[in-house]
Amino acid sequence: MDEKCKKILECLSDYMDGEASEELCKTVERHIGECNECRCVMESLKVTIEMLHSLPEEKIPENLEKSVLNKLKKILFK
Ligand SMILES: [Zn+2]
Repeated sequence: MDEKCKKILECLSDYMDGEASEELCKTVERHIGECNECRCVMESLKVTIEMLHSLPEEKIPENLEKSVLNKLKKILFK
């Protein structure tokens, strides 16, 4: 995993929350388009979050995206 991927993954939760700036969105989208690894991470993140959102509301932890992403990062960056 290179430095650029790490940066992209750092921004991914903001991006998915819609909190990223327009410029950042473009950077993330461009990178996802050319990097399989990051695309896989984003896909799994999406699927996981969608799955969790189908649970009853009270079972969804706060900062769901961030905690899922943190778990993924622990797996990827060890
Ligand atoms: Zn990447």
